[in-house]
Amino acid sequence: TPVPDYLADLLRNCKTAHGGELADYIPELASADPNKLAVALITLDGLLYSVGDDDYEFSIQSISKAFTYAYVVEKLRLEAVMQKVGVEPSGEAFNEISLDQTDDRIKPKNPMINSGAITVHSLIPKAENDCRAETVRQFFSQLAGRELSFDLAIFQSEKETAFRNLSIGYSLRNFNILESDPVEIVESYLKQCSINVTVKDLVNMMSVLVNDGILPRTGERIFSHKTVRQVLTVMTTCGMYNAAGDWLANVGIPAKSGVSGGIIGVLPGQVGLAVFSPKLDRFGNSVRGIDIMQQMSRDMGLHLLEGV
Ligand code: GLN
Repeated sequence: TPVPDYLADLLRNCKTAHGGELADYIPELASADPNKLAVALITLDGLLYSVGDDDYEFSIQSISKAFTYAYVVEKLRLEAVMQKVGVEPSGEAFNEISLDQTDDRIKPKNPMINSGAITVHSLIPKAENDCRAETVRQFFSQLAGRELSFDLAIFQSEKETAFRNLSIGYSLRNFNILESDPVEIVESYLKQCSINVTVKDLVNMMSVLVNDGILPRTGERIFSHKTVRQVLTVMTTCGMYNAAGDWLANVGIPAKSGVSGGIIGVLPGQVGLAVFSPKLDRFGNSVRGIDIMQQMSRDMGLHLLEGV
């Protein structure tokens, strides 16, 4: 079967699944259209296939965490980042007020949960006159190959109800993990989460991870091999929050989800995948997204440990 037909069949077959709930802790996300459904795939040499609502924009949310982690690991030394954020799966919800004494100091367990991602955001070098979120927007646009925008309604809505993320920020500041105003950092992190993407943007952004750090579209090296390996490692162990073990067993590829309903999955040297469907399970992962990813992993034999 040609790839587009295969992808269209996938969507048709999972239209019947209606489990899950819309995220409602961000008021603006509760009004999302639950029927939107899209999938995209990109190959190592940059061929992109997509079907369904593949031009529909949604806020990137936690999927951004994988790319900002890659950005700071590349800009700073890995050792410097490791001083601030660990790489241990937390087994806790994404928004847990989580700090852990793993070695000599107290720090967030990993960069894929909020405490770690807020810390990672604070490590982005601040450009003159610009907030860090703008640096992120420009970087994501470079990877996506088009100018991405902020969803200011989502940003505003999340900012007004950010009590939990603010508690995380203050607690990180208390332990000197954050070194400046926690409110400014948390708000800028929320703005990072509000960047609008389509599933096509997501696979374009991922092509750099599929291709060992080189952006296929331009041939430019964005990340070193070491950075890519580091990011894929934490995606594998922590990308699906406290459902990461289940995901690794059933789907078996490095991945990252977000509360607006997107999931990305990447098999280095082979493919990048992105799905979008807004209804979530109790871990905050897209129900139909998991379904579709699981099916693709089976059909294409993508599990990391398959055939080893
Ligand atoms: N902006 C959201 C938050 O910080 C992102 C969470 C998510 O996508 N899981 O709570």
